[in-house]
Amino acid sequence: MNIHQLFQLQKLDTEIDDKKKRLGEVLKAQNEPPALRAARQRAETAVAELQKWQTKHQNLTLEVNSLNTKAKNSENRLYSGKVTNPKELSDLQHEIESLGRRKSALEDEVLEALVMVEDAQAEKTAADEALETAVAQWDKQSAHLKAEQNELALALHKLMQTRKTRATTIDATSLQEYEQLRKQKHGLAVVGLRVNMCLGCRTTVSANTVKAVDEGRKVYCGDCGRLLAAL
Ligand SMILES: [Zn+2]
Repeated sequence: MNIHQLFQLQKLDTEIDDKKKRLGEVLKAQNEPPALRAARQRAETAVAELQKWQTKHQNLTLEVNSLNTKAKNSENRLYSGKVTNPKELSDLQHEIESLGRRKSALEDEVLEALVMVEDAQAEKTAADEALETAVAQWDKQSAHLKAEQNELALALHKLMQTRKTRATTIDATSLQEYEQLRKQKHGLAVVGLRVNMCLGCRTTVSANTVKAVDEGRKVYCGDCGRLLAAL
């Protein structure tokens, strides 16, 4: 087993792990902030509200037109001179009056709906402007995240290529043990020894261990169980 080779591999793997972690954070940070989501929601609601009142206004207007036609037909008949039966004349008169009352009430509703359409239109304009501002602000804020994401992806690609090449120069048994240890020790299988301190767990090791590490022998930290390598 060549400890130095494994230590080099460990450094690569640590760098890859760090970059992957950072990439995850950068991706997560690019989720739209609540303020932007709220602005989007407001704009969507404004569109729906405007459509609702426009439709309402349109339907009421159609209804008023239909009442107008009915009233006009009844009036024509009333004044046509063709109707002479007093009962029928009286009925026609009542119908015209009744239509007039309904029309008057409906016209009030039309006006109300029109006011609502105007309000909804104003809200939509305001909501669209707010959304545009929020989007522009977020694009500006997140531009550096996007750039970092691209840099990380590129760096990771290169590191993984290097890792692949380097792993082929290490014997299978050592590699297997290294991978196994990495899994058990939270990604850190080989650690440096600074003077007589294990950099994996910060405990000091014996002089014999230091000597063995310096000689490049396979030595484990008695405390954390990681392989030790000279810095
Ligand atoms: Zn240790």
